[in-house]
Amino acid sequence: MYSSKILAVLKKAGVEIGDIIRVNSGNEEYLGILMPRAGESDDLVIKLESGYNIGIGSEDAKIELKEKAKKKKEEKEDVQKRGEVAILGAGGTILSKVEYTTGATFPISNPNDIAAAFPKIKEIASFHSKILFQLFSEDFTPEHWKMIAKSVAEEIKEGAKGVVIMHGTDTLHYTSAALSFALQNLPVPLVLVGSQRSSDRPSSDNESNLLNAVFLAKSDIAHVGVCMHANSNDSFANFHLGTKARKMHSSRRDAFQSINSLPLARADYQSKKIEPLIPYTKRDEKRKLEMHNHFSSNVAMIYAHPGIKPELIDKLSDYDGVVFVGTGLCNIPTNPMNDKFANNILPNAKALVDSGIPVVMSTQTIYGRVNMNVYSAGRKIQEAGIIGNGADWTPETAYVKLCWVLGKEKRMEKVRELMMKNVAGEITERTNYDEKIVDF
Ligand code: ASP
Repeated sequence: MYSSKILAVLKKAGVEIGDIIRVNSGNEEYLGILMPRAGESDDLVIKLESGYNIGIGSEDAKIELKEKAKKKKEEKEDVQKRGEVAILGAGGTILSKVEYTTGATFPISNPNDIAAAFPKIKEIASFHSKILFQLFSEDFTPEHWKMIAKSVAEEIKEGAKGVVIMHGTDTLHYTSAALSFALQNLPVPLVLVGSQRSSDRPSSDNESNLLNAVFLAKSDIAHVGVCMHANSNDSFANFHLGTKARKMHSSRRDAFQSINSLPLARADYQSKKIEPLIPYTKRDEKRKLEMHNHFSSNVAMIYAHPGIKPELIDKLSDYDGVVFVGTGLCNIPTNPMNDKFANNILPNAKALVDSGIPVVMSTQTIYGRVNMNVYSAGRKIQEAGIIGNGADWTPETAYVKLCWVLGKEKRMEKVRELMMKNVAGEITERTNYDEKIVDF
């Protein structure tokens, strides 16, 4: 809620929440929709044309009404006619709307509300929308990945020219990796999008992320990817390859980064520009989508840490597979110096492998490659049968890939072979993450 002082100013100007206003403050002029606010505040929040929410001190601000808010009835339009782009809702902050009268945010449960909450989508593409489910992404399981993959395949079969998935950001990169393995030979783009800040917050990234995602869904980049803010201002979004994306910050709008790779492309729906940054597969609507929608829900991921106990590893024997997030070049404690305080968990990990449970390695440095050739500990880890030497996957992608491989194959040698074969860009030969990014 705004303070009583500012409410009086708004009343005098005939302005209500949801109206389009012009605000002059200092030397700046802003035009946008007056947003509701949580908590007592003297700062105005307006949603600018770009979809960016901005907070403006009201001290010396001049407020002028430009246009009254559209009535609810007008917002309700039938979006269920099939459009070029299918927008599927799977929850998270991005799939919420502000109730202008109360200022509260609610999960969107009616697909029509996507059109009402994001009226600019139709300026970019015709679309239809569906809510698959409303969940925070930390609550996802591999079952949810399968549900999403199935729905995307149906949309593509029905002729969608591109698909957008609205999704929470916390595990967006797990789902993007899962869809990269489950949906191969994609004929059209599949764009996952989230937002770090909800629509009632100044600097919300929800609308600009979604508009860039729809713009990318119409592009010729036929990959599974994640579209999110590229930097701390509002100029463009990055499109990260589904197996290389990772959430790298808990709150920044540019939290998503491509790991060990450049992004696929950068996109700006406002200037209608898409700049590819790495080679990509072009859209071909005649290409036949291949579905490989099988995931084990019984894989564990475990972080190697100082003091980790051998017994913890023994407890993993009920799992179908285990991913280690190792230290540095991909180590786990093996105690080669026979230190009296140190532990050796390698015999326990080897026992898992010997009992037929594949164990895969990744690194907690996030950037860099699994390299188990450098230290003798690493060589022993390889000799124990732990999979992954040379891979530059993220821990999450290694985990999703193991779930995927174990969803159809249990034979250790086959699992090893499939894990080490690049399927969806998860293992690259050359790491080019430090290549210079040219200005957009
Ligand atoms: N915890 C939320 C989720 O991942 C955060 C978000 O929506 O971005 O669903």
